[in-house]
Amino acid sequence: MEMKPVHQASCHCGAVVLELKMPNGLEDPRRCSCSMCRKRGAIAASVLLENLKIVKGEDNLTLYQFNTMTAKHYFCKTCGIYTHHQRRSNPHQFAINVACLEGVNPYELEPVKIYDGIHHPSDQN
Ligand SMILES: [Zn+2]
Repeated sequence: MEMKPVHQASCHCGAVVLELKMPNGLEDPRRCSCSMCRKRGAIAASVLLENLKIVKGEDNLTLYQFNTMTAKHYFCKTCGIYTHHQRRSNPHQFAINVACLEGVNPYELEPVKIYDGIHHPSDQN
C-alpha cells in the first residue's frame, strides 16, 4: 500500500480533510480492545502529532472523551465518521482511521492485530 509524501484523509461527507505525513507508510495498523475502540471497530494507524494537519473542517470536528479523559477522540459532527484521536498510550501520536485515507481499502489490511487496550495500565487500580 503506497503512501504519498503528503497523504489526504477525509470523513464521509467531506467536511473534514486531513493532510498526513507518513514517512514509514502505514505504521502499526491495528484494532484495539478498549471499551471505545471495540464499539468503533475502526483500524487505526500511527502518525506523529506534527505530521497531521487539519486542512479543512476543524470546526466541524467534535471531541469525545471518557474515563481518564486523556485520549481525545475526534469525529465529524455532520457524518459521524471518526477521523483520528490523540492517544492515551502514546500522547505524542495521533491514531488515524485508515478507512479515511484516500485510496486505501481497509479490508485489504485484514487480518489486523488487536491491541490490548482493555488492560491499559491506567485502568488497573
Ligand atoms: Zn463528515
